[in-house]
Amino acid sequence: MAAILTYVKPVRFDTVSAMNSEILYEYLERISNLLRTDVRRAGIGKGLQPVQMEALHYLSRCNRYSNTPVAVADFLGLTKGTVSQTLGVLEANGLLEKKADVFDRRVVHLVLTEIGRSVIAECIPPKVLEAAVCSWTDSEREQASSLMNRILRGLQKANGLKTFGVCETCHHHQCNADGSRRCCLTTEILSDADAGMVCREHQPLELSEPHPSA
Ligand code: SF4
Repeated sequence: MAAILTYVKPVRFDTVSAMNSEILYEYLERISNLLRTDVRRAGIGKGLQPVQMEALHYLSRCNRYSNTPVAVADFLGLTKGTVSQTLGVLEANGLLEKKADVFDRRVVHLVLTEIGRSVIAECIPPKVLEAAVCSWTDSEREQASSLMNRILRGLQKANGLKTFGVCETCHHHQCNADGSRRCCLTTEILSDADAGMVCREHQPLELSEPHPSA
């Protein structure tokens, strides 16, 4: 079993302002190692490899424009061949279904089955994370999420990667006076549930000019 690194040099409050990117890297690396190990363990308990869990998790929270094999490959940074094998295993295990697009039968959408959804609900977020933050206030969670979001966006921007952000934070997301929502890119109506989903076409507000229809 791979060693789990658990020690990060404590940082005194009065030295936080001097924290450099090396220490940040150390924290993020240890945190991601611990979380990945816990999810991996839970996935193996369900007979799934880490990449299969990652694909399943992505498909559990992405929208209808983003649940294609190409989008999964983009999100995971893998080749189409590797993703095809991964999706084949998930389908063979009854965790997802392939459905043809109603407008273009050549496009395939990957939809989680009830079993697939229950696997994700049981394994993610990992119990170890829930235990670590269960005593945090809402404000502390918001602050931590906001910082993580900034780091992630910065990394994606620096690497020229798609953001795969949540729909309601997108430049193209329009909220109307009557409470309805619309995607100004596809011109389709969005539901409240759509607003909370991840999209491969997401464009962060901070990288955009104000939308002409906003
Ligand atoms: S508003 Fe943005 S994130 Fe939402 S569906 Fe449209 S392109 Fe995707």
